[in-house]
Amino acid sequence: MSENSRRERHQPSLGMDVLKLPLLGRLLRGRHGRLTLQLLFTIVALSVAVDGFTGPQSAARNLATVAPWVHLRGIVVLALLLAGNLVCMGCPFTLPRTLAKRLSAKGRRFPQRLRNKWLAIFSLFALFLAYEVLDLWATPWLTAWLVVAYFAASFALEAVFAESAFCKYVCPLGSFNMVYSTLSPTSIAVKSPAVCASCVGHECVNGSYAPAPMIRVDEIPFADGEAPRRAQVAHGPGGALGCGTELFAPQMRSNLDCTLCLDCVRACPHDNVSLFTRSPGAELSRADSWARRWDMSFLVIALAFMGLSNAFGMVPPYYALQEWLALNLGISSEFVALLLIFSLGNLLLPMAIAVSAAYLGRSLTRFRARDSLRDTVAAFAPAFAPLGFGIWFAHYSFHLLASPGLIVPVIQEFLGAVGDWQRWSFSLEPNVIGLMQLFALIGGFLWSMRLAQKAALRLYRRKALLGLLPWALVLLLLMLAAWQLFTLPMEMRGALELFG
Ligand code: SF4
Ligand code: SF4
Repeated sequence: MSENSRRERHQPSLGMDVLKLPLLGRLLRGRHGRLTLQLLFTIVALSVAVDGFTGPQSAARNLATVAPWVHLRGIVVLALLLAGNLVCMGCPFTLPRTLAKRLSAKGRRFPQRLRNKWLAIFSLFALFLAYEVLDLWATPWLTAWLVVAYFAASFALEAVFAESAFCKYVCPLGSFNMVYSTLSPTSIAVKSPAVCASCVGHECVNGSYAPAPMIRVDEIPFADGEAPRRAQVAHGPGGALGCGTELFAPQMRSNLDCTLCLDCVRACPHDNVSLFTRSPGAELSRADSWARRWDMSFLVIALAFMGLSNAFGMVPPYYALQEWLALNLGISSEFVALLLIFSLGNLLLPMAIAVSAAYLGRSLTRFRARDSLRDTVAAFAPAFAPLGFGIWFAHYSFHLLASPGLIVPVIQEFLGAVGDWQRWSFSLEPNVIGLMQLFALIGGFLWSMRLAQKAALRLYRRKALLGLLPWALVLLLLMLAAWQLFTLPMEMRGALELFG
C-alpha cells in the first residue's frame, strides 16, 4: 500500500460537502461571500453602538442591551448546535482586522509565552465579571463602549502581529464559540491528503499573497499509479489570505481555533479543502483531537463552571450570599464580593476539582505512575463540553424565549417609528422553557457521561469503571447544581421593565 493510500485511509470519514450546495455553497465560497455576512453584522454592531450612545438608556428599549444580551447569545448557541461557528464567520470585528492584516503582512509573532489559552480564560473571566459588576445588560452606553473597545482591540492586535492573535488567544466571544463549535455538525477538512502531500506552497495556511506576481507549478497525483497532473499556482498582490489562526488544513483534527472564515478554501489552489458535515461532536471522542495542555483543558472545564456562576448571579441565593459576605466577612463592596465568588467558582473550583478527579482516578486504577495529571485531565476535559454547552443553552434560551419578539419594537423605535410593544411583548410558556432547559441539561449530561466513559475505557480498559467514578461524580454534581439553579426564579434581564 502506498504512503498516499495509507494517509487516505486514516482520514476521518467525510460527510456532505456543504460548499457544493447549489446556492449556499456558491455564496460561501465566493470572494465576497463572507464579506456580505460581515457587512450585515457590522451594520448591526454600529447600530448597537449608535443606539447605546444616543438612544434611551433603558435596558428593554435599547438595541445595545436587547440585541447582544437577549437575542444574539440565544442565536449563538443555536447556530453552534445546528450549523457551526457562524458568529465568528460573520464577526464584524474581523473587518478592520483584515485591513490591519494587510498592514502587518510581515508583522511580528505573538509572544511565545502568550500563545496558549490562558489569556482567553482570563478574558472570559473578566467579561463575565464586568457583565455583573457594571450591569452591562442594563447599561446601553457601556455596552456601546464594549463594542468600540472590541473593534479597537482587534485592530490593534492584528496590526501589530502577523497571525490572528485576537481571535486565537484573546477574544472571549471567539473562545466561547470555538470551544462549543467542537459539538457542531460541520468542520473544515481536506478532500484528499495525497494532494496535500504533493502541495508545495501550503497556501491554505500561508496564503497566496505576494508583493509581485509569480507562478509556481505543482505536480498533483490523481490516484495510485496514475501520472500526476501539473497545476499552476498563482501568487500576487491580489492573492488570498491564508489561515489567520494558523491551522494547517490537512492536519486539522478539531474545530478549536477555527473561525470558519473559509480563507483556507479560497486560498487552496487545488480546490482540496472544504466544509463538510460530520457527526456532531465527532472530535470529542477521539484521543488525538486536542493537544494535551493544561490551558486547553482548563478552558473547557472552566467554561462549564462559568455557565453555572453566570446563571447564579441572577437568582436569589446570590443576593443572600452577598449579604452573608457583608455581615460575616465585612465585604460590602459588590465588586470585591463578585471577584471573590467568581475567582472561586470560575477558576479555583474547576481547577481543584479537575486535578482532584484526575488524582483520584489514577489512584483508584493504580495508574499513577503511567499517566501524568496533565494527560489525565486532558483525556477527560472534552467530556465537559456537552454539559457546559447544555448549561449555557439552558440559560441563554431562557432569556431569548422569555421575550423573543422584543427586538422588533426596539428596532422600530431605533428607526424612528412607533414601537408596537403590545404586539411583540409576548413570552413562551414558562413550562415549555423549563422543559427545554431540562432537556438541554439532561442531554448534555448524558452526552458528557458517554465521552467520559470512552475516555476511561481508553485509559484504564478493565478498570474503566473505577477511573470513571470521580469524573462521573463531578459531572453529575455539576448537572444537579445547574438543574437546581434553573428551577429558581431568574431575573428577566433586558426585559425587566416590560415584564416585571
Ligand atoms: S489544503 Fe490545499 S493548500 Fe493546503 S496543503 Fe492541501 S492542497 Fe495545499
Ligand atoms: S482558514 Fe483557518 S480559521 Fe478559517 S476556516 Fe480555514 S481552518 Fe478555519
